[in-house]
Amino acid sequence: MTEHVDCAHFLPGHPKCGVLHGHTYKVEISIEGETRNGMVMDFADLKHATREVLAHYDHRSWNDFLEYPSVENICVLLNEKLKEKLPFAFTLRVWEGHGKWAEL
Ligand SMILES: [Zn+2]
Repeated sequence: MTEHVDCAHFLPGHPKCGVLHGHTYKVEISIEGETRNGMVMDFADLKHATREVLAHYDHRSWNDFLEYPSVENICVLLNEKLKEKLPFAFTLRVWEGHGKWAEL
């Protein structure tokens, strides 16, 4: 399942990313579990849970939440928040622009 969130960030001390700028982050979640009545989890429930987590960060700056908001640290943060809402094991991949991502 894929969702998107628009956020600003800067990486303190980084030669290129040290200036405030924004990305559309793509968030991919794959859940694992036994199927019941043909599905592991209803997409509607998964989307709802994911959107609830992302709404907290949408159009905000990651720097308000993380000291060094690299895509790796964003992935760790979102993983923790999603764990509270998803009753299944899952893999989270966060994309920062094209071709750059972190997975947990
Ligand atoms: Zn950036």
